[in-house]
Amino acid sequence: MVRYVCRRCDRRMGEYQGDWRDPALGLTRLNLTDQEEFLDWDDRGDATVKILCDHCLPVPWDENLWYN
Ligand SMILES: [Zn+2]
Repeated sequence: MVRYVCRRCDRRMGEYQGDWRDPALGLTRLNLTDQEEFLDWDDRGDATVKILCDHCLPVPWDENLWYN
């Protein structure tokens, strides 16, 4: 299973009831560096994709919130 979670506010964006390697998701096309940055795996092999939600995407610059 794949979960999509906002990397800034932890809001759950959705779930995909399939393998994270499903070509339709395109996650395997990320290079290893990006996979480590955007993907997490739990003990059961479920993947969490850390993205930005609609609420956070056009984020105003704020040193206190932005940790990249
Ligand atoms: Zn968010």
